[in-house]
Amino acid sequence: MLKTGKAAILNQPNGEFIIDEAELPDPKEGEILVKQEMCGVCGTDVHMYQGHLPGTAFPIVLGHEPVGIIAKLGKGVKVDHTGEPVKEGDRIYVVPGLRCGKCYFCTVLFEPTLCVNSTAYGFRPYSDQPPHFQGGYAEYIYMNHPYSTFLKMHVPPEIAVLLEPLTVGIHQMDMAKLRVGDTAVIQGCGAIGLFTLVAAKEAGAHKTIVVGAPKSRLDLAKEFGADLTINIEEVTDPKERIEMVKSETTLDYGADVVFECTGFPKAVPEGIDMLRRGGSYLVAGHFTDVGDVPLNPFLHFTNKQINLMGVWGDDIGH
Ligand SMILES: [Zn+2]
Ligand SMILES: [Zn+2]
Repeated sequence: MLKTGKAAILNQPNGEFIIDEAELPDPKEGEILVKQEMCGVCGTDVHMYQGHLPGTAFPIVLGHEPVGIIAKLGKGVKVDHTGEPVKEGDRIYVVPGLRCGKCYFCTVLFEPTLCVNSTAYGFRPYSDQPPHFQGGYAEYIYMNHPYSTFLKMHVPPEIAVLLEPLTVGIHQMDMAKLRVGDTAVIQGCGAIGLFTLVAAKEAGAHKTIVVGAPKSRLDLAKEFGADLTINIEEVTDPKERIEMVKSETTLDYGADVVFECTGFPKAVPEGIDMLRRGGSYLVAGHFTDVGDVPLNPFLHFTNKQINLMGVWGDDIGH
């Protein structure tokens, strides 16, 4: 008898996770069967659970931050995507994003996160097939999508599992073109905010300011090296928060770069007001549509001559 594995299948938006068992597939040429160790729970999983991510096919196995051990390698799989040799028993990070490498965005523009054929593990890449081993909330992931990529891990699973949110921070640094000595503000202290802080420090930010709540998260931000934290539950007036940030910058001009990692539209005008003229504002916290916010084209954009950038997820290059 073939071995089986379990998966937590979400039956519908706001529905139930049903634990179902299915036969394990035998990986064919180029494919991998991964015995999962851990998978992160992302804010996006919550949005998907609530049915707020358009195009999500149900039933689905959520989870796009998976780490596991190679249970079986299909024929021809010998190295990971940095060229490092792999064998059964090795720990790998399954890169969730699946990019075609052939479309206009992948090839001409070098913007794989915008791939027109993009899908991902944890997002039901094969919506016409059983969902069991296509996401992280299962005992196994069956890496049978032709665009699959993965990296061998040399750290414990509880560290490796943090790689996906970290790569969102790294993607932001790529776009922000942060300069050594910059003052960077990070709005939000969830996983994306904290890893953006880590990435900003690695990229050369001289002063880092994290604006968010609750206190326990801000304490973590301090542990990760934030120079200043502003608790929005204590400093409730956005104007006061803006002044606090500005007073920490060169000649009170404002921050060089502000990273939005909150998912709250109201953070956007506040964050732009924290910027100096000519600064860069990156919006990475909005992975779903949570509504509009009033902005002033003269005050926020033209007169201030800011660089405004959206950041959509991450890719293996990050
Ligand atoms: Zn995520
Ligand atoms: Zn593509």
